[in-house]
Amino acid sequence: MPADGFRALLAVWPRLPAEEVDIDQAVGRCLAADVAAPEDLPPAPRACMDGYAVQARDLFGASESLPAYLELAGSVAIQRPPDFLLEPGTCAAITTGGWLPAGADAVAMVEHTQDVGGGTVEFRKPLAPFENVMLQGEDASAGSPALTAGTRLRAPQIGLLAALGLPRASVGRLPRVAILSTGDELVPAHEAPPPGRIRDVNAHALAAMCREAGALPTRLGIVPDETPALSSALSSALAEYDVVLLSGGSSVGARDCTVAAIGNVPGAQLLVHGVAVSPGKPAILARSGDKAIVGLPGQVTSAQVVMHVFILPFLRHLAGRRDAFAPVRGRPAVLARNVASRHGREDWLRVSLEERPGDPPGQPPLAHPRLGKSGLLRTLLQADGMVVVPASREGLNAGEAVEVLPLSGGENA
Ligand code: AMP
Ligand code: MG
Repeated sequence: MPADGFRALLAVWPRLPAEEVDIDQAVGRCLAADVAAPEDLPPAPRACMDGYAVQARDLFGASESLPAYLELAGSVAIQRPPDFLLEPGTCAAITTGGWLPAGADAVAMVEHTQDVGGGTVEFRKPLAPFENVMLQGEDASAGSPALTAGTRLRAPQIGLLAALGLPRASVGRLPRVAILSTGDELVPAHEAPPPGRIRDVNAHALAAMCREAGALPTRLGIVPDETPALSSALSSALAEYDVVLLSGGSSVGARDCTVAAIGNVPGAQLLVHGVAVSPGKPAILARSGDKAIVGLPGQVTSAQVVMHVFILPFLRHLAGRRDAFAPVRGRPAVLARNVASRHGREDWLRVSLEERPGDPPGQPPLAHPRLGKSGLLRTLLQADGMVVVPASREGLNAGEAVEVLPLSGGENA
């Protein structure tokens, strides 16, 4: 299946149900529904700075050489709305955040004024109407959507919810992800492997990636390369988790049991076996109700690349993220050498970046592809990011402008 077809399948998967959380627990979560503002924010026009509330037209033409003079009509307390009306030709002392008296439409900065005594204030600058005023409803207007479904909550959004008096938010549930490693050669990472065997890398690396993407991973251990054992491990994982990630056993060798094991799970339906992507061709996708079974290649780098490219966006989508599969903008770079690729296959190159001494500031760095040996961790350890060769291209040329996508699941998470 083409990489875009695989993405399209994942992008329409039913999202997880919503849950209500305290806004202090909501950072990184995605809104499950639009949030309408219950009231205007600010609730009334407020001063942006310390100074004097005025009618802007009273300061028309005011300057250093020809100041305007207004009568001081009162002073606005920060904790109370003013109980007086601002008449033409008058001003009121106000502090940052104070509500403007009715009749006032601008605030003169205290630095541009002088209290000349006798209840008179001098103004040395003109003002436009609404200058230095936070308008009523400028942050959110009562009844209209203040935030839309699928928005990831960060500090500004959480601040807005607090300002609107909404201490709880309805957010998508976080995906619970089971991780199974398959392979007769694997031993748990804390054990010393006998000759011929290796430690289970993927379970830990995949769990780390899930966490970076905000999902809730559980490692369920190592399953031998036997179809019945894998079927029963899969069935029990499906009973409890939203997504089951399997690593290894996903290609077509004698010891590759994933497809057969899925076939034995009642109600499970194989959707994809093989994606036109490199590394990561043997990827598998199956569904059991709304639950997803993902078969990843065993090769450590291939497994992580498939996670980055498809499965982390999928986990974000499940958690309610809008546009989880929207293209991410990468860091501009220049490809250091020609790279060949097959038409129809999407290639993900791990690249390391080199800033060239002597280049003018702002010149993009060189991106060096780190090719091959997807069984080694090295290509990812040395990489500063990834560059994609789209399926429509037969390679990229040395000197070509490319975008380097971050490898960390964190910030784009
Ligand atoms: P497979 O996809 O099962 O054919 O595995 C491909 C390669 O990845 C083999 O060399 C496996 O030993 C290796 N491999 C599979 N699973 C893991 C794992 N969990 N940790 C480290 N290497 C693995
Ligand atoms: Mg294997």
